[in-house]
Amino acid sequence: MTTVHADIRRERLKPQTHLNEPQGNIKKQTAIDAVLKATQLCEQVQAEMVPTDAIQKTDRSPVTVADFGAQALICKAIGDTFPNNIIVAEENAQALKENASLLERVTDYVNRFCDDAPLSAETVCEWINKGGGEVGPSFWTLDPIDGTKGFLRRDQYAIALAYIVDGVVQLGVLGCPNLPYRLDATEPERGCLFVAIRGEGTHLYTKTGELLEQVHVSEAAHRFAESFESTHGDSDAHSKIANALGIIEPPAQIDSQAKYGIVSRGEASLYIRLPNPAYPDYRECIWDHAAGAIVVEEAGGTVTDANGAPLNFLTGKRMHENRGIVATNGKLHQHVLKAVAKL
Ligand code: AMP
Ligand code: MG
Repeated sequence: MTTVHADIRRERLKPQTHLNEPQGNIKKQTAIDAVLKATQLCEQVQAEMVPTDAIQKTDRSPVTVADFGAQALICKAIGDTFPNNIIVAEENAQALKENASLLERVTDYVNRFCDDAPLSAETVCEWINKGGGEVGPSFWTLDPIDGTKGFLRRDQYAIALAYIVDGVVQLGVLGCPNLPYRLDATEPERGCLFVAIRGEGTHLYTKTGELLEQVHVSEAAHRFAESFESTHGDSDAHSKIANALGIIEPPAQIDSQAKYGIVSRGEASLYIRLPNPAYPDYRECIWDHAAGAIVVEEAGGTVTDANGAPLNFLTGKRMHENRGIVATNGKLHQHVLKAVAKL
């Protein structure tokens, strides 16, 4: 890893005005309302979960009633308001068409949270498949549950929705139903929503939609974040980089894009995700990073891949031109890239 791109921060923070279009505020509100509703669905599924609510996808990763239900609700909310908008989402309804009891469960949960219920099972599948769009000049990207393994462990997970225009993320909404308001609080209140709009900052809300505060990255180099799942990164290399930066605190090991959230509010100064040597061909998915990236950037931080290249959200569902992720408070960024290059 040798190339270090300078001036990434300046380039990524150029003022962008796409969301100032007349429909910008409606987009923001639609996204917030949809993610809040999906948050409620996920929490209810989690409270009532039975073993058959989770199945394995062909790549052996888990998917649950909540992933499908959240995708249906969010695609419907966007589709009802912006029928021509493209959505590129993680899930599709194929597995449900082959599993009638799972489809029945998903339909039941969607109808509990849908304003114009009852929807038929077929309509629910159609809304899920509305997420089968292709990357293009403008599109939404959605991970209905990022960190499904964390969801199943009753740990961290996120509902991640972003709107991208000409390859630049303009809006990111990150629902983290299980994330404490403050990471280190002893008896924490939980359930956070991060909302970032290009040029307008990142704001933190409760999971009921009350504004808590605008958030900012921290100046100090005090803690780093990495995946809870050790196979999703290279934790030995992450530790070496932290050592090189003088970070001595143990890492925050957290599932999902909640990691971007904690960098955005200064609870970690770095989120690092170097490719796991066992999976050299793995390429990151756009829905795993688009919302999180704008949340950190609008809080004053910088996000690139591990070589310092900007994240390219236009190469398809996977970021074929990028390797790994580095998200920092900005100040640390070039130091981290240099440490990565020396590995
Ligand atoms: P996290 O909770 O941050 O580890 O992110 C969860 C995401 O990791 C899932 O949505 C997967 O898309 C992704 N993932 C699965 N396998 C890998 C891998 N080998 N390297 C990096 N990410 C992965
Ligand atoms: Mg994901």
